[in-house]
Amino acid sequence: MVVVLKPDVCRHQADELVNSLEEYNVKADVSEISDCTVICLLGNTDKIDCESLELHPCVERVIKFCEPFKKVNRKLHPEDTVINVRGEQIGGRKIAVIAGPCSVENSEQISEVARGIKNSGASFLRGGAFKPRTSPYSFQGLGFPGLELLKQAREKFGLPIVTEIMSCKYVDVFERDVDLIQVGARNMQNFDLLKELGGCTKPVLLKRGMASTIEETLMSAEYIVAHGNPNVIICERGIRTFETCLRNTLDLGAVPVIKKLSHLPVVVDPSHAAGVSWIVPTMAKMAIVSGADGLLIEVHNNPEKALCDGRQSLSVSQFASLFSELRKYAELENRSI
Ligand code: PEP
Ligand code: MN
Repeated sequence: MVVVLKPDVCRHQADELVNSLEEYNVKADVSEISDCTVICLLGNTDKIDCESLELHPCVERVIKFCEPFKKVNRKLHPEDTVINVRGEQIGGRKIAVIAGPCSVENSEQISEVARGIKNSGASFLRGGAFKPRTSPYSFQGLGFPGLELLKQAREKFGLPIVTEIMSCKYVDVFERDVDLIQVGARNMQNFDLLKELGGCTKPVLLKRGMASTIEETLMSAEYIVAHGNPNVIICERGIRTFETCLRNTLDLGAVPVIKKLSHLPVVVDPSHAAGVSWIVPTMAKMAIVSGADGLLIEVHNNPEKALCDGRQSLSVSQFASLFSELRKYAELENRSI
């Protein structure tokens, strides 16, 4: 941490400030840089409150070098975290593919999609039972019957299931029934929910909020880890920008940045970024090249009739041809899929 002093601060005032800072068990080096005095604080500065330090009459500004996230920080955990989800790994050499409809609609739909994605090579079945919809008049998901259909599909096809939790009141049910618990973009900063999920043993797929910075996303992951659950996967799913041609702007730069800052695995969801299906294959390939550890792709057995997000869903056959193309990109990155 560096404390830049105001230009008119005299040596005596600077020394007084240094003494007060050294009470926090840090070493304070004072130097003159250009025409200002700076105090460089070495050691553990966690206990120093930057905001109140900035209000000190001698201080111009405080520059903090260490990130506010600790447990998810790669500096404290240099090796990649590999998460085991019912025997499938996320974060290792193999790129994990999570596929399925936006929402579970009926038994025939989820079975057809599960069969199709499994035959193509996907390792996880996704499907929303509880849906966060912008309009209260839109299909809200089947709720618990949807969860039951997902469990039946898991039995039948042997794919671990991924589904979104919207409320703290369902944490126990999800902990019991779901293999990978998804926190949607709209709930990324539902801190009560994040804390509850910290008490779970099941891994969490944390989607980046549509207006959240990378640091805010990592702080949300920190909530879950700090509350006891180390198994968090971050998902980049596009952010809102001034651009309106696509539903969101896929921030692929976030993938190498998050992987540099954190040891957690990163998955990319090109479907919610795109909002239209024709561009999903291009974005999925780019995601692999950006270093993603996994992909989340919406697939439907009849996209035109889908109750949710049909426009961005691939058909089962489109997914099959994309999957075989993705193998080449995975190899290019020295990974398997
Ligand atoms: C979803 O995965 O269906 C979903 C609602 O995603 P997001 O939270 O990223 O909008
Ligand atoms: Mn969706």
